[in-house]
Order: sequence, then C-alpha cells, then structure tokens
Amino acid sequence: MSSSHVLVLNCGSSSLKFAIIDSSSAQEHLSGLAERLGESSPQIKYKFNGEKHVVALASGDAHEIAINKLVELVKTLKLDQQLVAVGHRVVHGGEHFTHSALITDSVLEAIKQTATLAPLHNPANLLGIEAASDAFATLPQVAVFDTAFHQTMDPTAFLYALPYELYKKHSIRRYGFHGTSHYYVSARAIDLLELDGKPSKIVTAHLGNGCSVCAVKDGKSVDTSMGLTPLEGLVMGTRSGDIDPGLFAYLVNQLDYTASQIDTLLNKESGLLGISELSNDCRTIEENAADGHAQAQLALDIFCYRLAKQIASFAVPLSGLDALVFTGGIGENSDVIRAKVVKQLEFFGFILNDEQNLAARFGSEGIITELSASPKAMVIPTNEELVIAQDAAKLAQEQ
Ligand code: AMP
Repeated sequence: MSSSHVLVLNCGSSSLKFAIIDSSSAQEHLSGLAERLGESSPQIKYKFNGEKHVVALASGDAHEIAINKLVELVKTLKLDQQLVAVGHRVVHGGEHFTHSALITDSVLEAIKQTATLAPLHNPANLLGIEAASDAFATLPQVAVFDTAFHQTMDPTAFLYALPYELYKKHSIRRYGFHGTSHYYVSARAIDLLELDGKPSKIVTAHLGNGCSVCAVKDGKSVDTSMGLTPLEGLVMGTRSGDIDPGLFAYLVNQLDYTASQIDTLLNKESGLLGISELSNDCRTIEENAADGHAQAQLALDIFCYRLAKQIASFAVPLSGLDALVFTGGIGENSDVIRAKVVKQLEFFGFILNDEQNLAARFGSEGIITELSASPKAMVIPTNEELVIAQDAAKLAQEQ
C-alpha cells in the first residue's frame, strides 16, 4: 500500500462518519458510521474488504469512546501504519477560511469563533477534532470547510440588502454550503467536457436531504443558493428554503410562535415533509405521487419548480450555461426529478435523452441530454471524502 492514506472524519452531534481513503488512487479501505452517540445503544457499523460489521459502544463520553474504538479498529485492521493525516469536515469556516487548513492552535480558535454562525454543526466538528488530535497525536490534522469554495463570491452575490453594519459587525452575509461537493462535481464536469483551461459556465445541483445549487464560472463559485445558514434557497427534505421574511413577524404577532418554534418549523417540519404531510424522503414522495397522492405530487412539483427557477436564475452570474450537473442522493438517483427539471429548462436548449436519464443511477456518471444538444445535463456522483483526503494529504506533505 502507498503512504497516502487519510482518515476522513465527519463528526455530527450524534454521529461520526469515517473512512480511510488512499488519496492517490481514490480507493476506500474502510468506511463506517458511529451512530446514536450520547443516546441509548450507541454502535459502530463499518465495511472492510467488502464485509459489513457492527460493534456495540459503551455509553459515556460518546465522541471520545467512538474515536477510541475507531483507533482500536484501525490498529487491529493494521491500517494505522499507512496513515499520513486525519481530515476533518468542518461545516462553517466563516470568512476566515478560503481553503482547507492544517489545524494549529490559532486555526482551532478561529473555528471556535465561527461556531456562533453554525451552532448546530461546528461544536460537533470540534469534538471530533479534539478527540482525534488526542488519539492520533502524531498525525497532522486538517480541516476542510463546507463554506471555503464559495469564498470567491463577489459582494454583489454574498451581501444581503440589510443595514451594512450587520455585515461589518456581525459577519451576516451569504456563505453557502456543500462547497466540497460543488467543487468536486464541477471540477469533474470540466474534465469530462474537456473545458480545462477554457471558459466554463456550470450550474451544480447538490440534492440530498439538504439541497443547494451553485453557479461555477471558470472553476470558481460565483453564487450559491444557501446563505448565512443552510436553510436558504431550495425546497429540501424538511427545510422550507426561501420564504417571505415577513412570515417571522406574522408567526410571532398573530400565532404566538417563539424564535425556537419558528426555527423548528422552518428546519424540521417544512419542505417535502411539510407540503406532503407524509415524508421527507424523496423515494416515498415519488412512490406516493405515482399512486395518486395529491399532496405528494404537489411537494414534487414545488420542489422541481423552485429548483428549475433557481438554476435558470444562475444564467445571470454565468452569462450563459454550458452544463447542469446533478449530484447527491436525489440528483444521482431520481430520474423523475431530473426529467421534470430538465424539461422545465428546455428553452435553454437542453434535450433530455430518456434512456441515458433512466440509466444514470447507483453511482454511475454520464450525460443525460442528447450529445448534439447544448447545454448538457449530467449526473456526477459526489465524493466529498476524496476531496477531504486529497486536501489533507497535500497539506500534510507541505508542512
Ligand atoms: P443524501 O442526503 O445525499 O444521502 O440523499 C438523501 C435523499 O436521497 C433522500 O431524500 C432519499 O430519498 C433520496 N434518494 C436516494 N435514492 C433515491 C432514489 N432512488 N430515488 C429518489 N430519491 C432517492
């Protein structure tokens, strides 16, 4: 085995996703998920050499126990000797981080500072960094930020029309998320379309439980649909996306909502789930819509309409469109949603190839429009873990 293996960690409040990836060959040697951390019956599920295993975890300081179990596992599987770095997914890097960073005391402090912008995510990411720094004390630790790719946006795209002081004093602005995914699939599209070194105008649509689109001009993010938080923009599984900000005062004054109830309403009870009153899961929505469930159909229609409208609007910052890329659980698998969206955008010149669209699923990559037509619509499975592994290996080597 080569010595470019990286342990990639994505630490959430009750879960820890991990993988060991060879950053040179992109081969995954181990992958797994520690779940129900801090809850009853925590466990680690992992896949090694194609075989799946489940190990129960002791209760207690959940993240530390999970990381220690992971260290034991990595050693037992004799994967520790090849590791060159640990790469951490960090959700919010604020304006401080325009690229991935080797974790030092000052970097750690800056991540802590940005926790006010992502109170649900950054503290969990920090738990992972602290536990891994203790457990893998000799390895360089690298932070890879969801927001970094979008730091090339111009103020015209990232500023809200609010008093400027809110930006100056409190850093309130659009940051955007899913940056690692938008970067990976846009770079891959540039490669596949042989646009390397040439001008390129690409819209990437990351559609999973969270959904966002990004306008990528000549390889750089120039606009994106998520904002200060991952709530803005598209309709998502349980998130509303864009709404009239006047709704806040209405809910407070007329319906006695509190700030935290509004937060729950917009983040956890809206989106596909809210409209359908059925599920946040796109597969369930599609199946029920096909069986004639009117609200499931409505949820699907609104999801696709809002997505198509947002994609079309990005022709403005791009001054045109060469390609539209679908990725994420929905983007990679739902031929239904891709077809509905591409058809609403036919006026750009897209001509859907039904066969190619049906064939693109379960991790396959390909163009789903007629090859003679322009722009192209494509499916490119995302690989955020590989980007994290590559950035971590590169920074570890440079130190
Ligand atoms: P992710 O967050 O990227 O894992 O994506 C999760 C979303 O992908 C869920 O809404 C799933 O219902 C959706 N999804 C996964 N497979 C399919 C499929 N075959 N058809 C439609 N949606 C799918």
